[in-house]
Amino acid sequence: MRRPIFSLEVFPPRRNATVGTIYDTLDGLADLQPDFISVTYGHGSQSDRTITARIAHTIRQEYRIPVVTHLTALYSSEERVDQTLDMFEAAGVRAVLALRGDQLEGYEPQGRFNYANELVAYIREKHPDMLVFGACYPEGHSECPDMKQDVENLKRKVDAGATTLISQLFYDNEKFYRFRDMLDAAGITVPVEAGIMPIMSMKSTINMAKRGGVTIPKTVYLLLDKWGDDTNILRSAGVVYASQQISDLAANGVDGIHLYTMNHPGDIRRIWGNVQNLFEKDDGRRL
Ligand code: FAD
Repeated sequence: MRRPIFSLEVFPPRRNATVGTIYDTLDGLADLQPDFISVTYGHGSQSDRTITARIAHTIRQEYRIPVVTHLTALYSSEERVDQTLDMFEAAGVRAVLALRGDQLEGYEPQGRFNYANELVAYIREKHPDMLVFGACYPEGHSECPDMKQDVENLKRKVDAGATTLISQLFYDNEKFYRFRDMLDAAGITVPVEAGIMPIMSMKSTINMAKRGGVTIPKTVYLLLDKWGDDTNILRSAGVVYASQQISDLAANGVDGIHLYTMNHPGDIRRIWGNVQNLFEKDDGRRL
């Protein structure tokens, strides 16, 4: 039996943070031997492709772990995307998560990549050796009022060449299972990794859920209500909650788990300690 894919996501340090943090994060995660680590990409004025490429290079060359780089393109020209892809290729990247990126107030889109499916098609054409992944939203993307329409739009991304989908975080597995059924009905057959973000603080949980239109189930509200003022206890409860989510997903035949690490290796290691038997190695790495 094929085991689920297991991947991790890290983000580059913010401009005013010390670069060392990301290495502490990678040191703390490398021995979990994920199938890949993905590195996020800034957007609008936050976009700094060199830092994403540098971290990708370190993950690939120093830690010897396959790497996926994110790339947003709404505010990028074709030329800039070309340069970025060349940079990624030079860093040893073999897969890109192709994203449109959020619409930002005060910024004018470049007009070349209005939706992720256009970027997927472009990368497939320009870099046929690269794998292209796409993002998906079990509770629907916040801009799309109709879930069915959102899935139809997702199908364009897959038809354009996305070979794996990684989901936005969710706390209610039932939402994910319903979404999977919708993908089946729409003829989307590529693997879908479930995005799991451990609860790390009351503020971040509520903000993320609000921003992404993610439902907070009653159980999570209870945890936030009881331990919202004590981050240490809340995080312990969050480790247990995420572990339970993962074991339920694995029992239900999930294609993969993508853990949003938030650059907190300690919590991720504890979750891994609880669930690693569910990811026994089979036929080797996926990338
Ligand atoms: P799209 O797939 O283009 O979808 C955006 C909206 O347009 C949806 O409402 C969709 O229904 C609609 N749509 C799609 N295609 C069409 C079409 N052809 N015609 C009409 N409507 C269409 N953001 C960052 O800035 N950096 C990151 O590193 C990053 N990483 C992420 C990783 C994951 C796993 C996820 C789930 C999200 C990530 N994001 C990141 C956030 C992402 O950029 C936003 O959610 C963004 O608003 C949508 O990007 P997308 O690629 O999903 O867009």
